Amino acid sequence: MVKQMPKLSRVILRGLRRRCPQCGVGRIFSGYLTIEDACPHCQESFEGIRTDDAAPWATILLLGHILAPIVMIVIKFDISTLPLTIIMAVLALVLALGILPLMKGVFVGLNWRFNIRDGRPVLD
Ligand SMILES: [Zn+2]
Repeated sequence: MVKQMPKLSRVILRGLRRRCPQCGVGRIFSGYLTIEDACPHCQESFEGIRTDDAAPWATILLLGHILAPIVMIVIKFDISTLPLTIIMAVLALVLALGILPLMKGVFVGLNWRFNIRDGRPVLD
């Protein structure tokens, strides 16, 4: 029996929710960023799925597009440099820590969808 693959958009949305790309119910992380060996709900294997630098890369790309307009707006106000730097650093840290697991979830889903294990496509 051939396994039914979910649509790519569904896999991406499930990744953003940090859920299994196959069933959408089980969690894909056992910790903050640690990938489970298999889905706790449907037992779909995540063995060999690595996202390497893709998730941090996407997080930085997204963060830059979020923070740059905020900086452009905030510098119009007369705020001294030190408090502004501290506020922006804290904001960047909080946003990065919040966005990183979402991006990792997306890339886990994409690796699963295209059957990329240990950084190489698996043809079967
Ligand atoms: Zn599952």
